[in-house]
Amino acid sequence: MTTAIAIKDLTKTYANGFEALKGISLEVEQGDFFALLGPNGAGKSTTIGVLSTLVKKSGGIVEIFGKNVDSHVYETKLDLGVVPQEINFSQFERVKDIVMTQAGYYGMPRSLAAERCEKYLRKLDLWDKRNDRSRTLSGGMKRRLMIARALVHEPKLLILDEPTAGVDIELRRSMWEFLTELNESGTTIILTTHYLEEAEQLCRNIAIIDHGRIVENTSMRALLKALDKQTYIVELATPIESLPNWGDAPVSATLIDAHSFEITVAATLTMSGLFKLFLDRSIQVSALRSKSNRLEQLFLSRLDNARGESADV
Ligand code: ADP
Repeated sequence: MTTAIAIKDLTKTYANGFEALKGISLEVEQGDFFALLGPNGAGKSTTIGVLSTLVKKSGGIVEIFGKNVDSHVYETKLDLGVVPQEINFSQFERVKDIVMTQAGYYGMPRSLAAERCEKYLRKLDLWDKRNDRSRTLSGGMKRRLMIARALVHEPKLLILDEPTAGVDIELRRSMWEFLTELNESGTTIILTTHYLEEAEQLCRNIAIIDHGRIVENTSMRALLKALDKQTYIVELATPIESLPNWGDAPVSATLIDAHSFEITVAATLTMSGLFKLFLDRSIQVSALRSKSNRLEQLFLSRLDNARGESADV
């Protein structure tokens, strides 16, 4: 299998002496949909900045499709499309011109550039706006324009820094669909996100970064499997005064009010097992929902563990 990205012992110390990356090693396979997750200030944008050569690294080796970014500057740029967090096109340029200018940077013939420009503006629902000045676009449209611009040279690898930050739910979902399709058609995608649900929905593999270090690097499936408990809020069709005895079932519950309770369930108990517990105790359930996103719980617990370990050293 081809490796899309190989990062080895990457360090970055900013001019003020701040060590933003303390030796990151990471591999992303071609065709993957990969999430780089982490709290604010973890080093995600710095990592992406180094990959796109916007940030000069202090040490380490970065390869894109087997080519070193230092010695193969042009080739690695051709393989790569980057969507940074900040909108960075001219607010006075017209939508179509922004994409066409980008195609020009890659030396594309005008006819091919025009074809690609239409293809991606249509895909991102911006074709109707092609002659508008970019400052008149909504925030969501500006983000989509950033994506269309990054794709015009059809890179093998697309990197997005918080693509849906500040984007409303509906638009976020349509962007997810677009990115999923793009990945299915063969583009390797790496994104950073604060929306943990986003990583859960989209990504096959994940790295968690905190304080400039990778604290977890695994498949999304394995990560979710590792989560051994899940908390639900149970809404009752018939009110109860107190909670029943759960026997030796692997659950613990607290009453919220007569109409609802919270129950934490071990992963070993199936949903049907849980409902049998309720049925056997004549608990009439009208609705059941997860208390919080599973990945979010896991993410927090992993970070706590990692911080605890480094504090012990
Ligand atoms: P993230 O994308 O995970 O939020 P960043 O990579 O943007 O994190 O930042 C990592 C750390 O590096 C933060 O503490 C940030 O304040 C610091 N940092 C980022 N850019 C600079 C800079 N130009 N000079 C000094 N420190 C910086």
